[in-house]
Amino acid sequence: MTTVQKMSQLYAPTLKEDPGEAELASHRLLLRAGMIRKVAAGVYDYLPLAWRSIRKIEAVVRDEMESIGAQELRLPAMQPAELWHQSHRWDDYGPELMRFTDRHEREFCLGPTHEEVVTSLVRNELRSYKQLPVTLYQIQTKYRDEIRPRFGLLRGREFIMKDAYSFNATKESLQESYDEEGVAYERICDRLGIDWRAVDADSGQIGGKVSIEFMALAESGEASLLYCDCGYASDDEAATAGVHVEACGDHLEKVETPRMGTIAELAEFMGVPECATVKALLGKDADGVTTLIFVPGDHDLNDIKISHVVVGFEMLTDDEIGERGFVKGFIGPVDVPAGVHVIADISLRQSGHWLVGANERDYHFKGAQVGRDFPEPEWADVITARIGDRCPVCGKPLQGARGIEIGQIFQLGTKYSEAMGAAFTDEDGVDKPLLMGCYGIGVSRTLASIVEQGNDENGIVWPVCVAPFEVAVLPLSVGDDLVDPMATKIAAALAAAGVETVLDDRDERAGVKFNDADLYGWPYQVIVGKRGATAGEVELKVRATNERIIIAADEVAATLAGLVAEQRARFTHEAALGMQAARRA
Ligand code: ATP
Ligand code: MG
Repeated sequence: MTTVQKMSQLYAPTLKEDPGEAELASHRLLLRAGMIRKVAAGVYDYLPLAWRSIRKIEAVVRDEMESIGAQELRLPAMQPAELWHQSHRWDDYGPELMRFTDRHEREFCLGPTHEEVVTSLVRNELRSYKQLPVTLYQIQTKYRDEIRPRFGLLRGREFIMKDAYSFNATKESLQESYDEEGVAYERICDRLGIDWRAVDADSGQIGGKVSIEFMALAESGEASLLYCDCGYASDDEAATAGVHVEACGDHLEKVETPRMGTIAELAEFMGVPECATVKALLGKDADGVTTLIFVPGDHDLNDIKISHVVVGFEMLTDDEIGERGFVKGFIGPVDVPAGVHVIADISLRQSGHWLVGANERDYHFKGAQVGRDFPEPEWADVITARIGDRCPVCGKPLQGARGIEIGQIFQLGTKYSEAMGAAFTDEDGVDKPLLMGCYGIGVSRTLASIVEQGNDENGIVWPVCVAPFEVAVLPLSVGDDLVDPMATKIAAALAAAGVETVLDDRDERAGVKFNDADLYGWPYQVIVGKRGATAGEVELKVRATNERIIIAADEVAATLAGLVAEQRARFTHEAALGMQAARRA
């Protein structure tokens, strides 16, 4: 049943001032509009308005999960360490895992994710290929002791996530479950009115696309993405782009480069672009072996990519660089001491002659040639791609955007099933580890992302499909014997038509009601004033467009019911299927 929510009773205390700690619009506005309250760093109360929107997001997520046959269940947040020892993640996960001990000195954690628990659930029951595939999901609270919880709901330590896990017998079946989750995620994004992009989240080195991130586009986003008109899109961390490098010199020549210890200084001093220089980085692997890495001067070493190439990679400190016989700012490949592992980014293969440090203070080499002046290094993709690098699909320059990761899908393979002994008997009678995929969407982060994309100087601008209420009725003179009954009647008619309605029955000035209405972001606002009421008219304001129309008081409820129905229809499963088909065409 839809009833009218009176503002006088609504628990949504607004803040007059901008909260000091809030840097981003979503954080500031959710606090100011009385939707969330901070309890501790990264831990929030969700007040009634936020909770209504969260429930709407969850409903869309559930609907799309059911549409692909995923089954909802509920796993515990409290998880025994024993399971995490079996997957080896008790040691690998690090300080983000919230650990505690019970009264019997048994160790537990609060789940940051549920691969361990779900694998342990199915390992004794999913025993035959005939039971597969199965996808299980839950919407639940997750805990991660983030090093820097910030931006409100965008990065909490306690947050809401939908996590799904598929169990498959074959690679093809896993690919199918993964693809289905992907298209369900597309529809979830569309149905929530999000401006989004799906990006490759792995560099494809493992073969095939095994992970996609769903990004809400936002200037304030922490992720930077690279994309191309041809449809290619990737997290810049994962992108393998065509990189332009230039050679410098042709024969080995030592040049005095006094105090030119940075790439910018060196390039300027030599009168060459930065892409004609080669930058050296020194680190060590897990065994302490010195690892020397060369990358194009205008690109950065990528932490994730290098960690795939060198186990336990860590940069050396300035002191360690000296102790290992190198001169910071002048490191090069010529006459490197024995026992040093030398790696160069694959892009440098195209440059026959490098401008690079000479391993001597204040000197560089130009024209240093691979194979002639120094041994061929190990080639690997180890840099972060940049705007302007070439698209790996079509070769056009890549463009850049920023985004907030709202979801990620991942093919896990047999990582957990092997470690935890989850096997099934296949058609051929052979026992095999289950193939798994995992699929997460941050529900609370999605709410914040929607606000991040929908706001103006006055407050939140909701897509109607996630707004806490669809319509607000604002009587401007409370107690007036014309205005009050008219507003109450309109609100009742709206509720009777199934429209989620608030009635601002507070004895407040018109200005206060207008400001609050825009701060809360009510999509449609019906303004009932004394003069209009006398003439049988009200004003209808559309928050998103700021459009205002005068409309007969006895027509407004029906008109709004129509507008709301239109909006709801734009965000259904069927509408999302249509959008998907249009995109594929
Ligand atoms: P990030 O890189 O932003 O820390 P993640 O890649 O570690 O996120 P996943 O493990 O892929 O996150 O979790 C699935 C989803 O859960 C994310 O896409 C995101 O929407 C959400 N999420 C992850 N960490 C947080 C957090 N600290 N606060 C709110 N939502 C989060
Ligand atoms: Mg992720």
